[in-house]
Amino acid sequence: MINRSVISSGTRLGRTRLFSSSVPSYESTVKRIGVIGAGQMGLGIALVAATVAKLPVTLVDSNELSIDKSLKFMDKLLQKDVSKGKYSHQDSEGIKERIHTTTVFESIFDTDFIIEAVPEIVSLKTDIFAKLAAGTAANTVLSTNTSSISVTKIAAAAKGAEHRVVSTHFMNPVSVQKGVEIISGLQTSPQTIATATELVKEMGKIPSVSTDSPGFIANRILLPYINEAIICLETGIGKKEDIDSIMKNGCAMPMGPLSLADFIGLDTCLAIMNVLFTTTGDTKYRPAILLQSMVDAGWLGKKTGKGFYNY
Ligand code: NAD
Repeated sequence: MINRSVISSGTRLGRTRLFSSSVPSYESTVKRIGVIGAGQMGLGIALVAATVAKLPVTLVDSNELSIDKSLKFMDKLLQKDVSKGKYSHQDSEGIKERIHTTTVFESIFDTDFIIEAVPEIVSLKTDIFAKLAAGTAANTVLSTNTSSISVTKIAAAAKGAEHRVVSTHFMNPVSVQKGVEIISGLQTSPQTIATATELVKEMGKIPSVSTDSPGFIANRILLPYINEAIICLETGIGKKEDIDSIMKNGCAMPMGPLSLADFIGLDTCLAIMNVLFTTTGDTKYRPAILLQSMVDAGWLGKKTGKGFYNY
């Protein structure tokens, strides 16, 4: 359960915060979670919330097909876990009952903590946060799962609710990866950070804090590594199998960088590299031309069946 201990704020983020009041105590108000986007991250977040935190979830997606695909995938995952003895058939039915899917965006408004997980496109996210600011209650936390976009910029779109915006950056696959980055914008209140941190813990995750800088910590390090692997492929330094093999078997990475790129989604990889490149202006972040070409071709990795490998 949520640890209701005292959480103070101030300089937890390693830089002076504009919002300087401290929070004397924390009372959980999260009784229902909303997730926007039923893609690989949104579904993963919804499942962990329903399974570990045992919270009811409203999962909204603008695309009915995405919801159908996710529900089928969820069934498969749950069946697998039941057959492995992770939990009973009855438990898995309970998890399914806790997740309510819909295409009606406004259904999300009566939840206490909303996590947005739509594609990594600035205008898509800012439009959503403007709507959330207008439609949600004054204490609903508005969180983004962005991989790289400025949380301050997203918060600025949530007019009147800027202090309620934060990022809970879950990693992929959500059920497996323990770490979650908590990133606050300049406007984020200590109370919002406290609620986000405790919820993440209640979901069985380990929060770590980073400042609102392009790519934050995880993708500032991970994506240039993946991009460099793609440049190695496009410049003929190695074949895809060799690039993946040496990083996996020689550098103890759990999977090769090109397989990882397929798994993340090449559109997401490109979007993150573009944010790093355009916000810093540093050419060391220039996206690989091959990455751009593959996205242009619609070869987005595992989710489209074709990327560096075929699925
Ligand atoms: P995805 O493409 O798998 O899913 C996105 C979903 O959002 C789709 O189902 C789509 O139909 C839906 N959507 C699009 N517009 C919408 C709208 N206006 N309203 C409601 N739903 C909408 O993407 P993903 O990989 O799940 O990534 C989602 C976010 O999480 C991105 O910001 C991404 O950068 C971030 N992220 C991704 C990974 C990863 O490994 N894929 C890891 C961490 C963070």
